[in-house]
Amino acid sequence: MTIATPPHALRHSAELHGVTKEFGTGSARVRALDDVSVTFPNGSWTAVMGPSGSGKSTLLHCAAGLDQATSGRILLAGQDITTAPDGVLTALRRRTMGFVFQNFNLIGSLTAEQNVALPLRLAGTKVSRRDVHAALAEVGLADRTRHRPRELSGGQQQRVALARAMATRPAVLFADEPTGALDSASARTVLGMLRRMVDESGQCVVMVTHDPAAAARADAVVFLSDGRIVDRLVQPSALDVADRLARLEG
Ligand code: ADP
Ligand code: MG
Repeated sequence: MTIATPPHALRHSAELHGVTKEFGTGSARVRALDDVSVTFPNGSWTAVMGPSGSGKSTLLHCAAGLDQATSGRILLAGQDITTAPDGVLTALRRRTMGFVFQNFNLIGSLTAEQNVALPLRLAGTKVSRRDVHAALAEVGLADRTRHRPRELSGGQQQRVALARAMATRPAVLFADEPTGALDSASARTVLGMLRRMVDESGQCVVMVTHDPAAAARADAVVFLSDGRIVDRLVQPSALDVADRLARLEG
């Protein structure tokens, strides 16, 4: 009997191969990512760290197909998004990934429950009110379902954004400083949710953070400097992370 090797495409939720991203032209040209290769396996949680301006957000945006790489190959759930036509890319994004933005990006005119239901509606899924409420209850916002973003604190808005990103049960969740605006109790809740997504549902999480303690909850930490990956630590302690980061920022 032979044991079938799972296709390569199914082992990694996201892969970047030699990815470069430049902004601007001429003397204003900035190379935000410089020949970055990194893979994010299913059922794993990777933290991305590095000094301000090192390319962390750009890495997430490109990996998620929200921004276009200048060169290199990017695979999302095994599909090459650098060659996919727009329509295919949009459908693939809606099916496979969730994104939590640094500045929440909630829709101001919609209530918390409408914001959470939106990606499900866009993906053509029948939305049950109960599921939406369950998602908001999980982030501790059962009593805020009818509130609009301006009626919520920063931390509460971030938790709505997280519930929204998780609603479609994406293969991969990209989160840009998801705990940056949270008090320490909410941050712990959010990190616990991410851990469960990975351990219990086999989802993939890629998270930018400045907090060594948060990064230490991940399975691996990659370090960016000037648009390049300069190190990768597997299951580091918070102290290891802080030390590595200090040497990059120093
Ligand atoms: P980080 O998230 O690590 O702070 P970013 O990925 O936001 O870094 O930015 C990396 C570099 O790319 C920075 O020099 C930043 O100024 C530049 N950059 C990011 N986005 C844009 C943009 N839309 N236009 C021009 N430059 C940009
Ligand atoms: Mg950033």
